[in-house]
Amino acid sequence: MKRVAIIGGGISGLSAAWELKKKKIPFILFEATDQCGGAIRTLHEAGCLIEAGPNSLSGPHPELDRLINELDLATEVCPADAHASNRFIVRDGQPIALPRSFAEFITTPLFSTPAKWRLLKEPFIRSQSAPGETLAAFTERRLGSEPLTYALNPFVSGIYAGDPDRLSAAAAFPTLIEMEREHGSLLRAMMHRSKKQRASGKPRSPRTIYTFKEGMQTLPNRLAEKIGSDAIKTHHPIEDIEALSSGEWKIADEVFSDLLLTLPTHAQSQLVTPFDLTFFDAIRYPAVTSLSLLYDRNQLTHPLNGFGMLIPACENRFILGVLFPSSIFPNRAPENKILLTVFIGGDRDPDRALLPRDQLLPHVEKDLQELLGLQGAPHHISTHRWVDAIPQYTAEIEPVHHQLTLLEATHLGLYFAGNYRDGISITNAILSGRNAAERIIENQSTGKESGATPTLDEENNL
Ligand SMILES: Cc1cc2nc3c(=O)[nH]c(=O)nc-3n(C[C@H](O)[C@H](O)[C@H](O)COP(=O)(O)OP(=O)(O)OC[C@H]3O[C@@H](n4cnc5c(N)ncnc54)[C@H](O)[C@@H]3O)c2cc1C
Repeated sequence: MKRVAIIGGGISGLSAAWELKKKKIPFILFEATDQCGGAIRTLHEAGCLIEAGPNSLSGPHPELDRLINELDLATEVCPADAHASNRFIVRDGQPIALPRSFAEFITTPLFSTPAKWRLLKEPFIRSQSAPGETLAAFTERRLGSEPLTYALNPFVSGIYAGDPDRLSAAAAFPTLIEMEREHGSLLRAMMHRSKKQRASGKPRSPRTIYTFKEGMQTLPNRLAEKIGSDAIKTHHPIEDIEALSSGEWKIADEVFSDLLLTLPTHAQSQLVTPFDLTFFDAIRYPAVTSLSLLYDRNQLTHPLNGFGMLIPACENRFILGVLFPSSIFPNRAPENKILLTVFIGGDRDPDRALLPRDQLLPHVEKDLQELLGLQGAPHHISTHRWVDAIPQYTAEIEPVHHQLTLLEATHLGLYFAGNYRDGISITNAILSGRNAAERIIENQSTGKESGATPTLDEENNL
């Protein structure tokens, strides 16, 4: 009988399992730890709701909305406060609100007047992205150096914990390359998009940020509940995978027709497998530590009227940035208290994230004191160390993706999904898992022996 093994119970593995469950295809999901969710981890400490990993989802996204409805979670959705669209960037030691309109752009002190003129010239820059162009080179070429320093650099450290000098523009932000290719300019592409939207007559859905009333872990918990405990084996770290002469896979003494691997790549290269996965070592996951800190409201002078504050590398601060969870969502901290989540390390300085908490705290407090007017010690500290936090979409990731496509094409019933393949956001990971499940379902129903056939280009790249 056909049966699928899913290795890894993060959101990618759960999403794949849910698709199989809906199609009544038998499977077992193996998760190493005592619970599913992977990077998504919500904690309740000192009267606070703390996110150790991801803090929010962003929408609208039809596929995410569909999943939320299928899981009956619509009433659990908790939208961000209206002022969460406000984001602060530090320039010359001052948090400055990022402009959200043309009028704000004209008056903002975040960019100098020459930099604003340079930005407005973007539609007339005629160059095109060359293969292997870094995100920093792309941004500087199209928008100039100040937007790179004071917008892209801090945003990339907020999303990827990454460095724009190392990330590949095409791998990390393929939409930007597409916009340039199709319209010759980012501004022209945006104007085209809004013209098309107006012409469609449909109202524009505003961008939303949200979580769930009981935190982000609601999503993997509900998925695991709907999938059912009989199909999920927690406390089951998989160490080796055997390929049988029948074309099936032997995992934890059980036999499966199909195998879907959703582990972070550094965990996959530890597995004993009948195929070589050492090419995965090319993907780096720099360390990040998050500290969630609880204060009295009157310990800070800053109004915290936004999503958070990001810090460009050139400001030479210890921390990468701070989220303001108790300003974004309700019930994150007790009344008259505020919760801050500070991020340290990332590709800017991964070793810093590995320092003991006692060595981190004085630096963190100094930054918070100087940037947000903090006084005194926190009432509670929650520390979360992600030794391998987020895969970096550098130039090295593209050959890895080609290798994966070839492995899938040449090995019967072998599939890969996860945040190292289709993008790092939770939504990307959900789609990655769903896409792999759809390929399994399609191949099982047509009797096709393996995944996608590599294109000539892909074969040439191997
Ligand atoms: C600090 C941080 C903040 C983030 N913030 C956001 C955010 O705000 N919004 C957003 O959209 N995204 C955010 N992300 C990214 C997002 O959370 C992840 O990309 C996504 O959750 C990854 O899901 P995954 O299933 O691909 O991998 P993982 O979550 O890593 O899941 C892999 C699973 O495999 C299991 N496993 C490992 N080895 C084995 C083994 N040998 N056998 C069996 N199981 C094994 C692990 O225990 C884990 O459960 C953040 C990530 C981090 C680290």
